[in-house]
Amino acid sequence: MEKRVEKIQAELAPFQWFFVTDPKNVRYLSGFTGTSGYVLLNQSEAYFLTDFRYAEQAKLQCPHLEIVIHKPIVFDSVAELTKGAKTLLVEASNLTWENYQKLQEKLASAVTGTKDIVEKLRIVKDQKEIALIEEAARITDEAFLEVCDFIKPGVREKDIARELEFAMKRKGASQVAFDFIVASGERGALPHGVASEKTIKAGEFVTLDIGAVYEGYHSDMTRTVAVGYGDGFLKEIYEIVLKAQEEALKAVKVGKSGFEIDKIARDIITDLGYGDNFGHGLGHGVGLDIHEQPRISPQADTILEENMIITIEPGIYLPQKGGVRIEDLVVVEAEGARRLSLSSKELIVLC
Ligand code: ZN
Ligand code: ZN
Repeated sequence: MEKRVEKIQAELAPFQWFFVTDPKNVRYLSGFTGTSGYVLLNQSEAYFLTDFRYAEQAKLQCPHLEIVIHKPIVFDSVAELTKGAKTLLVEASNLTWENYQKLQEKLASAVTGTKDIVEKLRIVKDQKEIALIEEAARITDEAFLEVCDFIKPGVREKDIARELEFAMKRKGASQVAFDFIVASGERGALPHGVASEKTIKAGEFVTLDIGAVYEGYHSDMTRTVAVGYGDGFLKEIYEIVLKAQEEALKAVKVGKSGFEIDKIARDIITDLGYGDNFGHGLGHGVGLDIHEQPRISPQADTILEENMIITIEPGIYLPQKGGVRIEDLVVVEAEGARRLSLSSKELIVLC
């Protein structure tokens, strides 16, 4: 964690300070898991600001930072600590306009918005982070396998989501990674069909997009299963999505761009006539956030590096009919992608 702080410090100019407010970025630099804390640093100093409730926790979790119990209004402490600064960088996507104005009122230095300083570092994971995400993926695989037995005609989507949540927590997850998508039958056409009151019927396909959080790190996996015999047409769609997913996975390698990987899956789906039914990017980075950089999409120019963690998740969505999505979480390695989602991708027929 000390190294992460040093890398940020190396990017700062003399008389420049950086006030980190995004909770995930704060956690990444400090190790602090509480809900109220900030990192403030310049080229040579690095502070962790929190309130008295977290004084002891901060001492334990952030030994590499100087702990400051901030004043009732944290901006007063920021002003005091950064006296003599020329600029104070803030995270434009996190600090509200209201707080920006309050902060600027307290400071003689100029408050300047920046983007992605910490996010850029977070793209490539270290071994500890990979191990935590791998554990989150293992919990997800196990919960999925267990809950497959529960998916049957007459059960509501919401009940499936609840069972998955119980299973994940029993297996060590601190929380779920997002509101689970459980989309059955026609609802399968909704790429983000959060579990509803709808009851599963025999013959339907059910898309389950699920993930766990383990020590702050997320996992993300989608499987589409058939309940009962399943619709023959959707089985064909399933084979197309699976082929697109596996061909894109094979292409994942250090040095490839997000655009190139997306194109492989998109071309397969488009050539078979479903290009318009695959309306989202192929994948995204996963870490302290469920969606982070890099993006794997037609617009993505990020070049894949070793130890990035990404998803590969093509889908085909057919209004009034249903849909199929298959998503794996993978680590980018020198020779290719190493799958962290290990659940079977053969069409599972449940009854
Ligand atoms: Zn997902
Ligand atoms: Zn995803």
